[in-house]
Amino acid sequence: MEDCLFCRIIAGEIPGDFVHRGERVSAFRDINPVAPTHILIVPNKHIASNNMVEPEDEATLGRLFLTARSLAESEGIAEDGYRLILNTGPHGGQEVYHLHLHLIGGQKMQHPMG
Ligand code: 5GP
Ligand code: ZN
Repeated sequence: MEDCLFCRIIAGEIPGDFVHRGERVSAFRDINPVAPTHILIVPNKHIASNNMVEPEDEATLGRLFLTARSLAESEGIAEDGYRLILNTGPHGGQEVYHLHLHLIGGQKMQHPMG
């Protein structure tokens, strides 16, 4: 997947501001943060979107959430809370087709359901 932006960041071909490097999962700061903390948590394996998740990815998906928990603590936003977002497809507003969990916090956000 040499044409995938996040694969290239994970491979070190494009710079990334990494906050975590694990066996299954990496995390780096979003280039265009919408809040004081805005981190993208990604599987090291290329998975285009939630529509492409397979049963064999179960442990990796679990690791995404455990990494989110750990990073929320290290960012100091765990207690006040944060938002985890996983956009999928055109209607979900997905722009980069390498699955990623947004960890967003450090300020109170409007409820997405209004
Ligand atoms: P999506 O809309 O697919 O859920 O989110 C894609 C995210 O990737 C956006 O928040 C965008 O700011 C971020 N992004 C796009 N290009 C880059 C990049 O080159 N580096 C980093 N760190 N983030 C990026
Ligand atoms: Zn990729």
